[in-house]
Amino acid sequence: MGYAYDDQNIFARILRGEIPNDTVLETEASLAFRDIAPQAPVHILVIPKGAYVSYDHFAADASDAEIADYTRAIGLVCRQEEIDLGTGGDGYRVISNAGAYGLQEVPHLHVHILGGRTLGPMLAR
Ligand code: AMP
Repeated sequence: MGYAYDDQNIFARILRGEIPNDTVLETEASLAFRDIAPQAPVHILVIPKGAYVSYDHFAADASDAEIADYTRAIGLVCRQEEIDLGTGGDGYRVISNAGAYGLQEVPHLHVHILGGRTLGPMLAR
């Protein structure tokens, strides 16, 4: 078993600059950009720059510096979009889909940050 990373996935291509993106934040180890098909007024994807397939892959193999950078980047995006709780925002949801049961479409770790409206139940069913 183990993690097989496909370096032709669309987020790898974004990181290489082969495909444009609507960047909202870039840090040393992370990139945040707007989802191309937003499902809420705020819908931002945050990805590590490293080649990780899923959250569990990242948690297992990323350096402490990458993990700290990524975690902070997610918080910074929430603050930047004024949905964070620290400055009186209305809140948000962070989702990371993985694998077949998670219906992951792009095999490069990403969290979705969703906000700007009441988001409804956590799962459709
Ligand atoms: P997931 O099902 O969690 O893998 O979600 C993949 C997400 O990537 C979807 O919400 C897509 O709308 C989004 N997406 C796919 N291609 C792009 C792109 N080129 N730029 C921004 N978002 C994208």
